[in-house]
Amino acid sequence: MPTFRAIFQSFKNFSKPLMGLMNYTKYSVPSYKLLLHNYIRNQRLDLARKLFDEIPSPNSHLYTIMIAGYTQNNRLNDALALFDDMSVRDMVSWNSMLKGCLDCGNLAVATKMFYKMPERNVVSWTTMVNGYLRFGHVDEAEELFYEMPVKDVAAWNSMIYGYCCNGRVEDALNLFEEMPCRNVISWTSMIGGLDSNGMHDESLFLFKKMVGFGIVPTSSTFACVLAACANVLDVCLGVQVHAYVVKIGCCFDEFISASLITLYANCKQIENAYNIFDEKLHMNVVVWTALLTGNGLNGKHEKAMTIFSDMIKGGIFPNQSTFTSVLSSCCRVEAIDRGREIHMLAIKLGLENDVFVGNSLIVMYCECGNVNDAVAVFRKIGKKNIVSWNSMIVGSAKHGYGQLTLTLFNQMICAGVDSDEITFTGLLSACSHSGMLQKGRSFFDYMSRYKSNKMKLQHYACMVDILGRFGKLEEAEELIRNMPMEPSSTIWLALLSACRMHSNLGVAERAAKHILNLEPHCSAAYVLLCNIYASAGKWSDVSRFRLKMKQGGIVKQPGCSWVNLKGVKHEFLSGDRSHPLSENIYKKLDWLGGKLKEFGYTPDQRFSLHDVEDEQKEEMLSYHSERLAIAFALVSTVESSTITVIKNLRVCGDCHSAIKLMAKITEREIVLRDSSRFHHFRNGICSCGDYW
Ligand code: ZN
Ligand code: ZN
Repeated sequence: MPTFRAIFQSFKNFSKPLMGLMNYTKYSVPSYKLLLHNYIRNQRLDLARKLFDEIPSPNSHLYTIMIAGYTQNNRLNDALALFDDMSVRDMVSWNSMLKGCLDCGNLAVATKMFYKMPERNVVSWTTMVNGYLRFGHVDEAEELFYEMPVKDVAAWNSMIYGYCCNGRVEDALNLFEEMPCRNVISWTSMIGGLDSNGMHDESLFLFKKMVGFGIVPTSSTFACVLAACANVLDVCLGVQVHAYVVKIGCCFDEFISASLITLYANCKQIENAYNIFDEKLHMNVVVWTALLTGNGLNGKHEKAMTIFSDMIKGGIFPNQSTFTSVLSSCCRVEAIDRGREIHMLAIKLGLENDVFVGNSLIVMYCECGNVNDAVAVFRKIGKKNIVSWNSMIVGSAKHGYGQLTLTLFNQMICAGVDSDEITFTGLLSACSHSGMLQKGRSFFDYMSRYKSNKMKLQHYACMVDILGRFGKLEEAEELIRNMPMEPSSTIWLALLSACRMHSNLGVAERAAKHILNLEPHCSAAYVLLCNIYASAGKWSDVSRFRLKMKQGGIVKQPGCSWVNLKGVKHEFLSGDRSHPLSENIYKKLDWLGGKLKEFGYTPDQRFSLHDVEDEQKEEMLSYHSERLAIAFALVSTVESSTITVIKNLRVCGDCHSAIKLMAKITEREIVLRDSSRFHHFRNGICSCGDYW
């Protein structure tokens, strides 16, 4: 157990020096120092303070140790009180107090402290510049930086690093060019900064330039370069760097190991990634996380989750990145049970209020169909950032919780958070999934008026959906024609689906033409078009397009639905009888079929007759993949629990009507995620309002 190990370790650290000091009756200054350090390291702050108060006349060095102890443990008020007690304060104590305020996250007090200092040296200035940068106040940092009477290379480096962390990579580059003398840290900051701001090639170019100047890279430089190689998938350069770090003995750096694992995983050489990991040079969180993320990137999500468990068993505590990666793997395989366990662990580790872990949990819960739990997580996040708000807005929109989405947006504005293009995608998709035409129009108009440079294809796609839902097909078509960018096949497809709902042949034919120009093998367009022709009774056109499909070798993607139960994915195709529980599943479906008839349900033959695969028997309709999956869940889960089913295509109209009644008959909530949205079936109705 990791906890025992940790306790044992701390006991060992704590007792060793203490034993040696037991014989002292009166401590000398060095022994006080040692004892203080020990108490503080073991977080026995009150004991440390008791000892400190016993020291006859503590010098400023001892004061500084005690103050640092407080600030390291987030007890700023105690630190400030003690600082006030000091009769003589030297530059070191002032600087240490200044840093302490910043470490405790109090920029305001730090700023006051900085201006109160009787005199400042280059360390004070740099600490304050760093402080502003850490809180994202780049302009203030910049101003202070230019005011500095003397700048050493550390100050320049801080500013470069800070610019990069705050996305101002151009400014960083200018400063880098401008600085009078650069050391390896300047180069490394710039190389890392370019890479983390998406300028991977430039980062590698700078590295080559640095080597050309004869500057010897450090292990941090190599870690940055390997990360850039991983991002541009340059395995050749990566391998050269790898060989070099082995040669000079840098391979013992944990960040280098982690970067190498990421490099090989990104370049789909997962075996090489494992080779690095298996060297077991350092089994720490960074290396484990790299391996976990690497597996996720290669689509090995189950493996990623196993690595997470192994890591915990090995006594290694996950950090924020580990949580982000493993939760994204849970998400990809809809493993909500595993997600929940990981959530519990995050609570135990005190990471419940952490914004990064929280954001990943929100996405996981939303994608796995549980908005309520996502909201609960969202409310608990201490300092929400734009990603938290966006994840919640986009998530609730996908589920058709229009009111919730709008409320969240209002709260976001009240909290003073600036919306961005992702927020608007969420808002518009909420309007389309919840049928809010006026709201949708006003958000769209607002965007085109004030944020037109941020308008992307998806905003138009949402607006086409909204208009389509209300049958305003000509207006939607007009909107597509006047788009400032080239419309994609997805946008035309949105219009075509709307045409099917409203049986509009004219617009449908034009939309289909555009789609097939852009994507000649788009089976969805063929299927939709055939459906529209069929419902208009144009059978000759139906046969014409079916022939075209046959000749072009275009096959309809088979519908497939699945349920995840206790980490196992149970997958069903239409009419599938391969599942071990098949007998029970079909029995359940036939029982449901009888009940459905009692409730006045008649199969909507359009959805089987108009299907391109006409050979399908009529009765197949009642054995569509989503129904098999639901029946499976009904026979395998406890009564009254929510059923979550995922389908690769859109749910068919007939199944949609049947599932509404199934939810009522079985008194279950059925959540169905299809290719376009979430449907929550409850008591005979669906959250989509029968439009999807
Ligand atoms: Zn169906
Ligand atoms: Zn629905």
